[in-house]
Amino acid sequence: MHATPLPADTRTAGDRAGQVLHEVFGYGEFRGLQRAIVEHTIVGGDALVLMPTGGGKSLCYQIPAIVRHRADQGVAIVVSPLIALMHDQVGALEEAGVHAAFLNSTLELADAVRIEREMMGGRLVLLYAAPERIATPRMLEQLDSLHERGLLSMFAIDEAHCVSQWGHDFREDYLKLSVLAERYPGVPRIALTATADALTRADIVLRLALEKARVFVSSFDRPNIRYAVVAKDKAREQLLGFIRDEHAGEAGIVYCQSRKKVDETAAWLNDQGVTALPYHAGLEANVRQRHQDRFLREDGIVMVATIAFGMGIDKPDVRFVAHLDLPKNIEGYYQETGRAGRDGLPADAWMAYGLADVVNQRRMIDESPAGDEFKRNQRGKLDALLALAEAHDCRRVRLLSYFGEASQPCGPGQNACDNCRTPPATWNATEAARMALSCVYRIEQQSGHHFGAGHLIDVLRGKPTVKVAQHGHARLSTFGVGAAIEEVQWRSVIRQLVALGHLASEGEYGTLALTASSREVLRGEVALLLREASAPTPRLRGAKRRGGAAAGGGGATGKPPPRPLDAEGLARFAALKAWRAEVARAHNLPAYVVFHDATLAEMADARPASLDELAGISGVGAKKLDAYGDDILRVLASTLGV
Ligand code: ADP
Ligand code: ZN
Repeated sequence: MHATPLPADTRTAGDRAGQVLHEVFGYGEFRGLQRAIVEHTIVGGDALVLMPTGGGKSLCYQIPAIVRHRADQGVAIVVSPLIALMHDQVGALEEAGVHAAFLNSTLELADAVRIEREMMGGRLVLLYAAPERIATPRMLEQLDSLHERGLLSMFAIDEAHCVSQWGHDFREDYLKLSVLAERYPGVPRIALTATADALTRADIVLRLALEKARVFVSSFDRPNIRYAVVAKDKAREQLLGFIRDEHAGEAGIVYCQSRKKVDETAAWLNDQGVTALPYHAGLEANVRQRHQDRFLREDGIVMVATIAFGMGIDKPDVRFVAHLDLPKNIEGYYQETGRAGRDGLPADAWMAYGLADVVNQRRMIDESPAGDEFKRNQRGKLDALLALAEAHDCRRVRLLSYFGEASQPCGPGQNACDNCRTPPATWNATEAARMALSCVYRIEQQSGHHFGAGHLIDVLRGKPTVKVAQHGHARLSTFGVGAAIEEVQWRSVIRQLVALGHLASEGEYGTLALTASSREVLRGEVALLLREASAPTPRLRGAKRRGGAAAGGGGATGKPPPRPLDAEGLARFAALKAWRAEVARAHNLPAYVVFHDATLAEMADARPASLDELAGISGVGAKKLDAYGDDILRVLASTLGV
């Protein structure tokens, strides 16, 4: 094959990249900053790419690797932290007709030898390896040899935030990657991540010697994700209702804080007829791997997991991410919820949240062995998340503004957040708050110690419980002052007071005590406009198209939402999915690697009758057209009459 010389200017590079996008991946247009990034990288520039999950980072290095390979530049080395996912990443490229491979400890010796030979011959377009592998003497020698022969095309460093000690995914081995800049100064490097605040970003630049790299920062909005936070009240049942109403039979992730809760929740969901699997660091490695494989390969599995699960999971059709416990901070929340809807189709980020969450998170910070400054930092981050959970305005705007991005409220679209869809009722809770705080004060005065929220509410509502009698709290002047306010409302007021810092929760039982700012509330210096608790959480149903599938992948670009399929379209879609499942099984790959749901849905809708027409569907590249085109047309033809 004749090599096409490397483009000298970015425009030619961009045109060449556009051809590859179309021919290899079957996509019509670049998304967001993709074009600028690939142009820059193809002509040899270094880059640091910040793009949200689902933004399309992979193409940012895969396309330059392909263009540069065609220009005789040899092999692109992709550093990826997760050995368990390399097989599928490489499988997806091979499906698209791109010669790629991985080197890791799971390979049989014979396979490793074969792949090394392919690499050393410069025949591979991309080689995936974990950072610990890259830094071995053997690998460095091989890279030296490639480099000397002009066959070391570029480096891509995925999940680059792992290099930072500030990030929560720090990997010691990533530090070794500084060797790449020292040893191969002329070889372009592109580092990519979906999570990098200013501190982490500076760390990446420093540790990977990317001072000269151009930094590409994308919008972090995920327009196809709907955010919703509900007040916890039997959270498991709420979760089950949410899954049954909105996502029956669809894939999702449920995050819990503890391993025990993961196990219990998964078992309980199974009892209720939802196929759920547990995932946490306490499970045997082979069990974890099996559960991950099933989640990736089977349709409609719910993964119940601790935060140990998720990094690098590129399953595009995760339709919801649910939190049964409050994450630690907004970074975590954003990263975890970001795993929903990578395919650009509507997806939900749902969280149940209550007073106990605030109490737990505060306690975990207080009891951690970390230094004071670190704790102060953690508390600040938790407060920002609490403000998001308690917000009565647009959650998307709050989320983005936390990352320094100005934005507009969701608007009326079907992907609007809960607060934009149904603005929550608020009420002036200043008086109620004063009642609660002065009641805490009187209880302490009388009894010399603090009590939890349940007892406080009983006193406020004038309930003659055993505990009230025991402590003589019926004699307090605040006994029964709040009888006119419902218990749910009181719970919500107290939760919000704790979240706002006007009440402190202490110790294992979350007993309540006054804080420095309580005084201002007591004196009536702060007006409190709080969310009303009685307004039931609006059902999401109705906002969603049923059927689960829709034509045309909108992508993360905010294109118009796809059209729903009619009954015949759904039948064709089902037939295509059945066909895809067979192919995926035969190739030992997840179904989405063969074709995305969005691509199948577009086929089902457009009913292409020829290979030419089929080639026009987004996601159908040349290799897949060649390999599968006739089969697809046959499947479509055979379901025409239904
Ligand atoms: P990230 O790594 O940033 O989370 P991916 O690279 O996995 O995102 O891309 C997310 C999904 O979007 C993938 O399924 C990918 O095929 C698809 N995608 C990426 N770029 C485009 C594009 N320009 N047009 C259509 N689909 C795209
Ligand atoms: Zn909104």
